[in-house]
Amino acid sequence: MNHDHSHALFQRARARLPGGVNSPVRAFKSVGGEPFFVARADGPYLYDVDGNRYVDYVGSWGPMIVGHNHPHVREAVQRAIGDGLSFGAPCAAEVTMAETLARLVPSCEMVRMVNSGTEATLSAIRLARGATGRSRIVKFEGCYHGHGDSFLVKAGSGALTFGVPTSPGVPKALADLTLTLPYNDFDAASALFDTAGGDIAALIIEPVVGNANCLPPRDGYLRHLRELCTRHGTLLIFDEVMTGFRVALGGAQARYGVTPDLSTFGKIIGGGMPVGAYGGRRELMEQVAPSGPVYQAGTLSGNPVAMAAGLAMLELVSEPGFHARLEATTHALCDGLEAAAREAGMAFTTTRVGAMFGLFFTTETIVDTYAQAVACDTAAFNRFFHAMLARGVFLAPSAFEAGFVSSAHDEGVVDATLAAAREAFRSLA
Ligand code: PLP
Repeated sequence: MNHDHSHALFQRARARLPGGVNSPVRAFKSVGGEPFFVARADGPYLYDVDGNRYVDYVGSWGPMIVGHNHPHVREAVQRAIGDGLSFGAPCAAEVTMAETLARLVPSCEMVRMVNSGTEATLSAIRLARGATGRSRIVKFEGCYHGHGDSFLVKAGSGALTFGVPTSPGVPKALADLTLTLPYNDFDAASALFDTAGGDIAALIIEPVVGNANCLPPRDGYLRHLRELCTRHGTLLIFDEVMTGFRVALGGAQARYGVTPDLSTFGKIIGGGMPVGAYGGRRELMEQVAPSGPVYQAGTLSGNPVAMAAGLAMLELVSEPGFHARLEATTHALCDGLEAAAREAGMAFTTTRVGAMFGLFFTTETIVDTYAQAVACDTAAFNRFFHAMLARGVFLAPSAFEAGFVSSAHDEGVVDATLAAAREAFRSLA
């Protein structure tokens, strides 16, 4: 594959953008090499500026669950643009969005729209602190909730990929208010709440971890956390920025039957536009300004074009059978990858939840803890990543990110991916 144009762009980018990118994991730093620059995207494919085509399992890190450039979403955006780009005053689409979210995720009786997942999680913990009068929060090792100060403590995603899970620049006094727990460890959570429960405003969790590879919750684990939070007057926040509308139409809370106090969203609800949201029980959300004292605002929040994209996307994912079809695709892909690895004699396993999956180079058969994820052979993953990329398949450029399938990944696309994988695994063995 020729990458001359991408290479030239990356040289220019590095002179003006830190690391040549606007979000760290895009830089390919952990897998090595240089990123390709995208010219356009359609269905399951990305096309780079040198004319190469890739089957895309990154999906813009989650939003593109119906594939790229879906006509229903594109046309909704085109219609909205005709009426103006931003109003700074209420519009009907914001109301429809709030009603839609409340219908699809019943724990969100009220919502506030924001512009990113980071804003959603930042705002949710401010609300939790305001509502409880407590300062401490609990998060999980390897979970990523955006780049807010309180969350860059033992964080996942790019922070983990680049070996800085606790970022310089976060004041120690603030970081000290963030307590961390190992995911899927029942006893550690009980012990922490026994000692500090009365001080904890909120426990925030990715109910399926997607930022330390993909780690599903153990049976009863989310319910255990729900019980601890209820007993200690702590608010349970499900960060569904990744899992929302992906692992089930109603998100992880619907899939696992556990109801959080607050939820955060992003990615899919923007249909590819910059959108986030947080929501929860009415009496909690009514504490947000201007109905209550907890301040949070946004110049572009509820933007009409973004709302149009998100609403069109939510219509598509609400079609009957949508998630069942996606889940079947994920299984076909992951079963095929495991078979290809076995044929090549590689130690490898996968995890899958709905339309999310994880790839692990390990001899273990079940991987569901952060410790197991970080113990995997990341060098093998990096070689596999490049072997796949050379064959026109784009996996997340880090061993610590979940992969995503979309409804545009049909049988032919999965078969082509598996043909590439058989060669890629053989080249590694
Ligand atoms: N929460 C989770 C679970 C995420 O995966 C992400 C981003 O990947 C965020 C929050 C932050 O969202 P954003 O990048 O839109 O700020």
